[in-house]
Amino acid sequence: MEREISIALRFKLAIGDVTLNEIVYRLKELRDHLMLQILKEILVGYDDLICERLSQTKIYPSKARKGLGRHFTRGDPDARLCRGRKVRKRGHRRNLRHLSTVFGVLKLPIRVVECCKCGAFYSPLLSALKVGRYARKESNFEQEVIEAVIDTNYRRLITGRSIDISLGGIHNLVVGSDVDQVYQEPVSLEDLSAIMADGTGVKQYRGRKGELRAVIGITTAGKVEPLGSFTNTEWPEIERIIKERIKGTDPYIPFVYDGEPGLDDFLADVAQSQRCTWHGPRGLYHALWEDGLKKKDSQPAMDKMKHLIGIELPEGDFEILKEEDKEPVKTQYETSKAQIQELVETFRERGYTHGASYLENLSDRLFTHIEIWLKSGIIAPKTTSLLERVFREIGRRLKRIAWGWSDKTVTKLSKMILIKQYSRSKWEEYWKHKLGIMGHFRINIASVQLAPCKHF
Ligand SMILES: [Zn+2]
Repeated sequence: MEREISIALRFKLAIGDVTLNEIVYRLKELRDHLMLQILKEILVGYDDLICERLSQTKIYPSKARKGLGRHFTRGDPDARLCRGRKVRKRGHRRNLRHLSTVFGVLKLPIRVVECCKCGAFYSPLLSALKVGRYARKESNFEQEVIEAVIDTNYRRLITGRSIDISLGGIHNLVVGSDVDQVYQEPVSLEDLSAIMADGTGVKQYRGRKGELRAVIGITTAGKVEPLGSFTNTEWPEIERIIKERIKGTDPYIPFVYDGEPGLDDFLADVAQSQRCTWHGPRGLYHALWEDGLKKKDSQPAMDKMKHLIGIELPEGDFEILKEEDKEPVKTQYETSKAQIQELVETFRERGYTHGASYLENLSDRLFTHIEIWLKSGIIAPKTTSLLERVFREIGRRLKRIAWGWSDKTVTKLSKMILIKQYSRSKWEEYWKHKLGIMGHFRINIASVQLAPCKHF
């Protein structure tokens, strides 16, 4: 069905004084109000048309009423749908229906009809538009709000656009989202060059401190591939969920972490542990401090460790490297490994028990990236720096908004942040699917012309 809307705009223009800036400024102000009124006209016209078709059954065959008039049978305790498609018009609802849209709040008069079969009173427009009985917003609005939250500029979204949503409203949007049910497709290990996991604190309800945990993959192209985010979930449970998502095998994939307790054997049967080479030496400082050493006393040991693990890998194609080019790396690797063991012994002799056990525990996991390179030529990540960047991004956003939220809600929001930041196309897909954009409505501008001037 094709219809037209005419719009008459009236403007006053101060000849000789007006600037381009002022014209654009005022048009911009008009934009959302104009859209809101157009939307209202379209919906009111649609409501009239639907009610006409449902009440004039002599004129309109049942084919013309297809998809219209769905309602629950009056008084049915099981809330079954009524098959009646003939109605009597019963005027309008007493109150305007308020709906939040991207253009602002729409205040819509809505028709009420009475079913001739079961006697139910209902509003056929709402079911035709697929607006739930209690829905107060459309989903474009939901997308804009959530994106604004993620981009940390939701205040700007709200001010000046007559969009009315509180922090509690945002919370409800996130709670109601089904983001946790999408984006579960398997990730192939062959496309990854490393897996990383870590946790960070988040403030929750009544100041309770929670723990946000995330697992990411780094693709062979060096991009972040989110694998999962969790709030107050034990590592074994996280491991189980991640294992379900990853497919295939790759003998040369490191699992990089920075010493979080509980991660020592994480994904041990699919990946090889690599302690972050940046955090490793810094953790030693803490262990030696527990042994009573001051910074200036532990510094030499830390410098030595940094030097031992800082093995440079030759650039360029592994395939064309000669054996003698690989040799120095191999020698340095073996010497470093031995010297780390010596350092452990020295600590032990001096009675630095914390330092000794810290380094001992680390020693097997400091050179994984070198071992992988020697076997395969793959230069794999050896620090958790990419994951830290991810945490900074999530943390900054959660801090602004998610203070006092529940585990489930924090998890959902962090998942949204991850998908939007790192899987842009999946994010777009998610919303397009959610909005149900199917080509059932098209609108274009038929003409825009200035009315003739009454007097020059
Ligand atoms: Zn009925």
